[in-house]
Amino acid sequence: MQTVWILGAGQLGAMLQQAAYPLALRVVPLDPDLTELPTIQPGDIITVEREQWPSTPLTDFLSSHSSFVNADVFWRIADRFHQKSLLDSLGVATAPWRNVADDTRAEALHQDLGSDVLLKRRTGGYDGKGQYWLYSDQGDEVPGDWQGAAIAEQKIPFMEEVSLVGARDRNGKTVYYPLTLNLHSDGILMASVAPLERVQHLQEQAEGMLGKIMDAMNYVGVMAMECFRVDDTLIVNELAPRVHNSGHWTQAGACVSQFEMHLRAVTGLPIKSPEVRGNSAMINVIGVERDHRWLEIPALQCYWYGKDVRPGRKLGHININHPQRSAIRGAIDEVRPLLPEHYGDALDWLELQLR
Ligand code: ATP
Ligand code: MG
Ligand code: MG
Repeated sequence: MQTVWILGAGQLGAMLQQAAYPLALRVVPLDPDLTELPTIQPGDIITVEREQWPSTPLTDFLSSHSSFVNADVFWRIADRFHQKSLLDSLGVATAPWRNVADDTRAEALHQDLGSDVLLKRRTGGYDGKGQYWLYSDQGDEVPGDWQGAAIAEQKIPFMEEVSLVGARDRNGKTVYYPLTLNLHSDGILMASVAPLERVQHLQEQAEGMLGKIMDAMNYVGVMAMECFRVDDTLIVNELAPRVHNSGHWTQAGACVSQFEMHLRAVTGLPIKSPEVRGNSAMINVIGVERDHRWLEIPALQCYWYGKDVRPGRKLGHININHPQRSAIRGAIDEVRPLLPEHYGDALDWLELQLR
C-alpha cells in the first residue's frame, strides 16, 4: 500500500489519516521527536501538517528526502518576512508592513504604518500567540526580544475575515472551496461558516489571488489563504501551506473534505471542484472539556483531539451541517447551554450569519 508520511503528529495529521481510508492509502503521522527513522519506499509521499518544525534527526531526514512534496515552499511561508515579500512580489494585496530590524524604533514604524502597529514574530506564531500591539499614544517601544525577530503590520480596519481553501495538483489544476467566513477572538479562530451567498461575489477575486500564489511556488496540495475584507477588497493576512482549521467544515459540508483533497493532490489522484452540501458551521472547542451531550444533537458532528485540557488550547471542533439554515440555528440553540458562557458571542455571530 502506498504510504503518505506526515511531518507532524497533531490533529491535522490524525484527520488526514481518517480521510485516507476510502482512498486505500496508508497515512502515518510522525512526531518530530521520534528517534527511529522510517523506511520510505519508492512511490511513497512525504507531506506536512505544519509549516514549521524544529530541526531533529527525523525532520532533517524527511524534509531533505526526494519524496518530500513542496520542499521549496515552507521556508518562504513559515517566515513572515519571506511570506510578505512573496506577496508583495506577486502584487497580491497584503497588510502594509515593515521589517523589524535590530535597531528599528517604534517611532519609525508609526511614521510608516500609523498609530496602531501589530508586531508579529517572523516564525513560530499561531493562534494569535506571537503578536504584540504597539500603540503610539501609549508610547510603546519594540521589546528587546522582538528586535530582529519580527515584522510590523499596519492595523487593518476590516469588516470581517474570510479564508479560501484551495488545492493544486501536479499538473497545475486548481480547485477551491467556497469562501469561509471566520470569527477570531484574541487572535484565535472561534467559529466559521460556509458557504455564504453574501460573500460569493468575492470568490473570483480570492481564487485569482490564491491561484497566483500556488502557481508561483508550483505548489501541490491544499493551501489556505486568510484574508481581511475591506469593503469589496480582499487583503491577505497570511497563508498556510497545509490543511487549515477554517476548512474543517468540509468534513461535513463537502463531498470531498480538505483532508481527502490534500491526499489526492499529493499522491497524484484526481482533484475536483467539490460539491458542497447545505450549510455548515464550525465551532472550535478551546480549553473546554468534552461533553457527551453534544453527541445527541442531530445535525452536529464532534471531533475530539484527545489532548489534555489547557486554557486557550484547541481540543476539538464541532461541525454542524444541514440543508436548512434554521436547522443549524436549532442545533446551535441546543449546544449553547452545553458550552461555557463565553461562547455566547461566537454562537450569536453564527446565528446572525445563518439568518
Ligand atoms: P493562526 O492561528 O491563524 O495561524 P496567527 O497567530 O498566525 O494565527 P494571524 O493570523 O496573523 O496570527 O493573526 C490572528 C488574528 O489577529 C487575525 O485573524 C486577525 O483577527 C488579527 N490580526 C492579524 N493581523 C492584523 C492586522 N494587520 N490588523 C488587524 N487585525 C489583525
Ligand atoms: Mg498563522
Ligand atoms: Mg491566522
